[in-house]
Amino acid sequence: MRAIVVGSGAGGGLAARELTKAGMDVLVLEAGPEFRPMSRRVTLTEPLRRAGVMGTERTIRRLFPAMWTARSSDELVLVRGIATGGTTTIACGNLARATGGLDEIGLDLTREFEELEAELHPITFPRDRWRPTTEAMFQAAESLGYDPAPTPKAMNAVRCVACGLCEIGCGSGAKWDARRWLNQAKLAGAEVRLETPVERVLVEGDRATGVLVRAKQGAETIKADLVVLAAGGIGTAQILRASSLPVQDKLWTDIVLTIGGKKKGAEMLSEPPMVWYTKHDRFILSPYLDILSHWFHQPWRKVGLRDRVGVMVKLGEEANGVVEADGTVRKELTSTDHDKLAAATELAKRVMLDADVEGPFVPGMLNGGHHGGTVPLHRDEIESMHPSGLPDNLYVADLSLLPRSQGLPTILTASALAMRVVRTITNREP
Ligand SMILES: Cc1cc2nc3c(=O)[nH]c(=O)nc-3n(C[C@H](O)[C@H](O)[C@H](O)COP(=O)(O)OP(=O)(O)OC[C@H]3O[C@@H](n4cnc5c(N)ncnc54)[C@H](O)[C@@H]3O)c2cc1C
Repeated sequence: MRAIVVGSGAGGGLAARELTKAGMDVLVLEAGPEFRPMSRRVTLTEPLRRAGVMGTERTIRRLFPAMWTARSSDELVLVRGIATGGTTTIACGNLARATGGLDEIGLDLTREFEELEAELHPITFPRDRWRPTTEAMFQAAESLGYDPAPTPKAMNAVRCVACGLCEIGCGSGAKWDARRWLNQAKLAGAEVRLETPVERVLVEGDRATGVLVRAKQGAETIKADLVVLAAGGIGTAQILRASSLPVQDKLWTDIVLTIGGKKKGAEMLSEPPMVWYTKHDRFILSPYLDILSHWFHQPWRKVGLRDRVGVMVKLGEEANGVVEADGTVRKELTSTDHDKLAAATELAKRVMLDADVEGPFVPGMLNGGHHGGTVPLHRDEIESMHPSGLPDNLYVADLSLLPRSQGLPTILTASALAMRVVRTITNREP
């Protein structure tokens, strides 16, 4: 049986490996190239940044092609990884069971979470390697009653050189990403075609017959018995819309707002990002030097890399984004989102103040990098893991299936969803 998997991130990498393991003839179609971490030294960009000539966040694509950014409104920048491994390659390595909204649709992913955690062995980054300001902010959060905890991470702390920049790719190979699953799929016989974006799914009656891709060589039709879309909350929605198949205008992205302060010699880049976090109602706080804001957000220009301190608010916001067939995304924050961000910002400021971090406390660039919700699962679809309205042999295996925003790391949940989808398919097929 010939299966096409579209995308090679948290969902697609896992789906490719599991379908191959189940004996299928798997072809992975990946829009991006082989992932490469950013090779330029970050400190070399400091003079350009100070001079204010770094431009907007769109410059990042020239420095680091795997990182895709786009504005979905004047104030919100969306970020994703377009390369092998998808967005996992530019992630911070955090692992959490993000289960918001799953109870409501009767989906229990405990078994999948347990299996993935047993494979990925989450660890916490050794506390004696945290920077003093990060330690002080942890203690401040503790005294304030926010109940901070070290963040579970899929990484090897011994190999980590603490460059602080997981988001531009791990040069030391310490951080796990979904390329490992893609490689396992390849070793087991899967074929992988890079720089091959899928434009649409081809449908005859109630069956998908394959996909149309538009690679450098031009358009090509590729036939298959089974198509699994795992192009992420934006990519999967774009393909479905271009195929005139159902998509919901409910994209969520988990809004990140980093509150910037300063402390002489804080050197936050000498540790991994987000080594601890506090969990609140639909948001977390975590120490984070947001490199996009550092480079491209004008209000952050005055403070240098060594002295910059940041605390991130990651908020589960309202699911209201629209993805068009050409990949354009329209999404605005609602007044409720703004109110929640303002309240969370006050908590972040309190942590910094109590840890002797100096103001002025300047909000960074609003950005979102957890894209989901465009093909939300409903209660009556849990048994089949098949969104109704799609052809019988067309499945989705990524974060698009998760009905609502989380304000939490989402890799584990994207992969757990993909695992359940693949197991459901393979249990059904003879
Ligand atoms: C800066 C940053 C840091 C993050 N840190 C963390 C973290 O520490 N922990 C965590 O849990 N989450 C983190 N996330 C979020 C997490 O990485 C994503 O939620 C997760 O990877 C989503 O998985 P996915 O399979 O849905 O999509 P992705 O991993 O994005 O995979 C989608 C894949 O589809 C490909 N694709 C897209 N369109 C097409 C097309 N038309 N044809 C073919 N291929 C296509 C893409 O190139 C990509 O390979 C972070 C996100 C960002 C932006």
